[in-house]
This record gives sequence, C-alpha cells and structure tokens, in this order.
Amino acid sequence: MNWKWLVLILFLLGSVYRLVLHIVRFRSAANPTPENVADVYDAETYQRWKAYNAEKSRLHMVSTVLTWVLMSALLLTGAYSAFANLFADDPWSQLIAVLILQILAETLLNVVISYVDTMIIEQKYGFNRSTVKTFVADRIREFLLNFVLSTGLVCALCALHMAMGNWVVVLLVGVMFVFTLTASFLYPVLSRIGNRFVPLEEGELKDKLMALLNKHGYRVKAIEVMDASRRTTKLNAYFTGFGKMKTIVLFDNLVNAMTTDEICAVFAHELGHGIHKDVLKNQILNLVNLTAMSVVAWLTVYFTGLYTDFGFEGVNYGFAYVLMSIGLGLVQPLLDILINARSRKAEYRADEQAVQEGYGEALVEALKKLNRDNFAHLSPDPVLVVLEYTHPPLSQRVAAIEKQLKK
Ligand SMILES: [Zn+2]
Repeated sequence: MNWKWLVLILFLLGSVYRLVLHIVRFRSAANPTPENVADVYDAETYQRWKAYNAEKSRLHMVSTVLTWVLMSALLLTGAYSAFANLFADDPWSQLIAVLILQILAETLLNVVISYVDTMIIEQKYGFNRSTVKTFVADRIREFLLNFVLSTGLVCALCALHMAMGNWVVVLLVGVMFVFTLTASFLYPVLSRIGNRFVPLEEGELKDKLMALLNKHGYRVKAIEVMDASRRTTKLNAYFTGFGKMKTIVLFDNLVNAMTTDEICAVFAHELGHGIHKDVLKNQILNLVNLTAMSVVAWLTVYFTGLYTDFGFEGVNYGFAYVLMSIGLGLVQPLLDILINARSRKAEYRADEQAVQEGYGEALVEALKKLNRDNFAHLSPDPVLVVLEYTHPPLSQRVAAIEKQLKK
C-alpha cells in the first residue's frame, strides 16, 4: 500500500467535510425563522447578524480550500522531508525543522484569512477593535505562541515515546483523563478565587429552590449568588457538593435578568441533569473520546511506512504532528456526532424534569432569554444540528416542552 496516497485521500475527505459544513452554515442564513420562536429577536438585528455570519462562513470556505491546496502541495512534493534535510541529522533538529515549515504555512494562511476577517468583515459590521498595528502584533504573538507550545508538546511526546515505546498511549489517555476530571472537580473551588459569593436573600426564590431540592432528597448547605457579571454576560446556575448535600450557585446576571419562576425553571433543568447523572456519563464519554484520539495519534507513529513514503528515513515526530492533525480532523467529527446526539437527548430529558416540576412555561421564557443572550441561530440546518449541536435548537426544545405541557 502507498501511504502517501492514503494520507492525501484522508486529508481530502476531512477538507471536504469542513467545506460542506461551511456551505451548510452559509446557506442556513436564508432559513425561515420558526413561528414558535419568532419573538426572540427584533427582525432587523437578527437579519444583520445572519448576514454577518454568512460572510464569515464564506471566508471559512475559502480558507478550507486554500489550506487544502497548500497542504496537499507540501505533502505531494515531499517538501517536509526536503526542508528537514537542510538541518542537522539528529532527531531533534529534524523534528523542529518540520514544525517550523508547518507552522509557517499555517501562519501564512492565517494572516491572510484573519486580515479579511478582522479588517474587512468585522470592520464593515462595526465589530472591529484592532488597528493594523495591533493586528500585526497579534499575529506575531500568535505565531510565537503556537511555535513554542507545539514544539514543547511534540518534544515531550517524542521523548516519552522513545522512552516508553507503545505504552505511551496508555499514559497519554491517563494523564489527559485525570487532567479533565480534576479540572471539572476543581471548577467549584477555583471559581471561588476572584469572585464574590453572597448568600441569596430570604424570600420566595430561596423557598422555591429549597423545596425543589428537598423534594428529591437533597439537603441544601447554602444558596449563593456569584458576581459573575464582572466577567461574563452568561446566565448560569449550577449546584455542587458530594452525595446529597448541595450548594447552589446562581450567577448574579441570572438573578437580575430573570423572574423567580424562570430561575427555578433553569435550576429544575440542572436538577434533571443531576438526577440522571449526566455529569458522570459525560466523564465516561470523555474517556472514550480521549482513548480514540490517543490511538489515532499513536497509529501515526506506529506505521513507519507513513514516513518513508514521504521521503524521511524513519519516524519524524514533527511530521507525526502533521499526520495527527490530519487524522484527528477526520476522527473527531465522527466521535462528535455520537457525543452530541447523546448530549441533545440529555437536554430534552432535563427540560422534561423542569416541566414535571411545574416550570414548563417559565422554562420556555427562560430559554428564549438564554438564546437571545447567546445570539443563537434560530433555524440552523438539520445537518448542522446532527454534526455539531450539543443542545437542540430553541424551536425544537420549545415544541417538545409545549407537547409535554399538553399531556
Ligand atoms: Zn442542560
């Protein structure tokens, strides 16, 4: 088998996938707004926002094609190994040589695309805040950061692979899993740094939230309001704590923007996630996902033919980085389809919980506010929903809630 053609074909498939995604996104600007969510935005703002996004999608189409042309040319002509041969004949210099070529190529494309993005499209819609000077400084900083981080990562992986052999894949999965697990457990602790928490004042909201939790056998340690509005406009609520003892945290933006029943509805939705153990299930899926990605990464160094067919003498870890990004660009979307389908199902189930608690109508109002806040697309293409939506589109959630309310 000729590895060169296999890699080129896989890269073509990944590029076609991304191109189709951008085309579908571009076209969904023309989709009509479903009737049950027509009151979310005022028509003029929404129209302008859709036009802005359509222009961005068109730029991404161009970017995808240009990336494909440039990368395919580099792969086809054996440019990576030719460039590496200009450097000293030791694994580290060879590794860094390939990375320099790759990151230079990426940066070159990125400069052109982000120039059009920031200085032309964002300028046209009044979002641009950078001048040519800050633009140039940003790109130089990006290149240096990208180069330092990628080189550090690839060198570390290279050293580990040379020391451990194939066991490196187990280590990789373990480290990444522990890292994401720790990050999610530490979030409630970390968010205490630099944020102020005040207990929720006595009243109707507090009584209703307590009633919700007590009904399901949880005990409430505290209900607190976090001053999140200093950093974000996101409206959010979560509850933390092991076992049955819980602390509820409400973002102050949520408390300020929503009515008592709407806040309870958002919280009842979160409670639904808690009852169905969605956080735990997400961690398991995360582990599956990390394992699949690490295996793809490991396969790129397992088959040495991948290197000799591109003109190298043996495994070049810099080139492994290039191959990895091609492999992951194809495998990640496939995994996302499964993970997102499960996530959308969990969202419907959490919405159902809120309806069962008697907050169906309030949840509809709350979701509309949340969507307006995030500037969500009201009529995304069904293809796009299947490929990359973790939450169902607003109109489908509203329809499901209303259907359940009628029962
Ligand atoms: Zn949810």
